[in-house]
Amino acid sequence: MSSTSPLIHNFSAGPCILPPSVLQQASEAVSELDGSGLSLIEISHRSAAFVEVMEEARALVRSELSLPDHYEVLFLQGGASLGFLTAAMNFTPAGGSMDYAVTGTWAKKALKEAKKMGTAQALTSSEDTGFDRIPALPPTSGADAVHITTNNTIYGTQYAGDPSVDKPLVADMSSDIFSRPIDIERYACIYAGAQKNMGPAGTVLYIYDKRRAGQTGRDLPSYLDLTVHADKDSMFNTPPVFAVYTSMLTLRWLKSEGGVAAMQKRNAAKAACIYAEIDRNPLFQGYAQPDSRSVMNATFTAADDQHTPLFLEACTAAGINGLKGHRSIGGFRASMYNALPLSSVETLVEVMKEFERTHG
Ligand SMILES: *Cc1c(COP(=O)(O)O)cnc(C)c1O
Repeated sequence: MSSTSPLIHNFSAGPCILPPSVLQQASEAVSELDGSGLSLIEISHRSAAFVEVMEEARALVRSELSLPDHYEVLFLQGGASLGFLTAAMNFTPAGGSMDYAVTGTWAKKALKEAKKMGTAQALTSSEDTGFDRIPALPPTSGADAVHITTNNTIYGTQYAGDPSVDKPLVADMSSDIFSRPIDIERYACIYAGAQKNMGPAGTVLYIYDKRRAGQTGRDLPSYLDLTVHADKDSMFNTPPVFAVYTSMLTLRWLKSEGGVAAMQKRNAAKAACIYAEIDRNPLFQGYAQPDSRSVMNATFTAADDQHTPLFLEACTAAGINGLKGHRSIGGFRASMYNALPLSSVETLVEVMKEFERTHG
């Protein structure tokens, strides 16, 4: 497998493509972790070897996102789906409330979970236009924080940068964490399932401002209280060792490739390549409004719906995997996470051009 011309072009929305070197090193560690004579998945999580892995993973998150000391970094379980609840539990004070920007399916689910915790309401929504855009954030009312989903994986919309609001942000960054630098001080809490842009399924990253944590006045269940995990250095219970190790490898790779600034440039180049073709080719139509387009997930449809299965066949024949759109909007979705090379996007664009020649 070469990183410039993979045999399969993996556009899967998640679990995502990972760098070939990461897959290689992760599989070696399953056989034996760093010359220890033991497998990564049979060694004690309290062993020095694994404690080092957890510490390196947390340190890499800190360095690659330039986090100040008052931010905590944890690798927990439950996916972003438990993050919906955990974030609301830890950052909505008893008697307080959280505003939600409802920009897609995941945002809706986040709001639904938060409502079980107390007061949570939609601040804005783009549901009436099929979640095809990112609406501007209006001023908040009495809320303590504003929850956003920075990248809407299903609809292919994304905030352009970190929005500025009058309250601290709580963000689900599952599908664009590490795709660009972030203005961390705007956020009280960020959570992100690993399997979109960081690693394999099985762990979820939490980053939060320690000064704002532990202040809800609620008696939270231990596992759902972020401060309990922080007190135990993200080892309150047995961590998901394989997912943390592989995420750590991906973060090492990210660093060696020039970090989030380099990723931002590459991701912009990939997005420019696919959107130019979507806009040029009369057989295809973009789904998201141009000013809300995601750099990570490009959503589009066939102008003639009868072409949909034919184009997917052409993609499969060209070694393109994972292009079928989410069932809620149909069509196509090209997910272009950090590890996807520009050459894969160029291949997809070639297939689109060829499809125009043969079916236009
Ligand atoms: C995939 C996804 C989720 C759900 O993640 P799980 O880890 O499967 O719970 C939540 N939010 C966003 C933005 C996603 O892309």
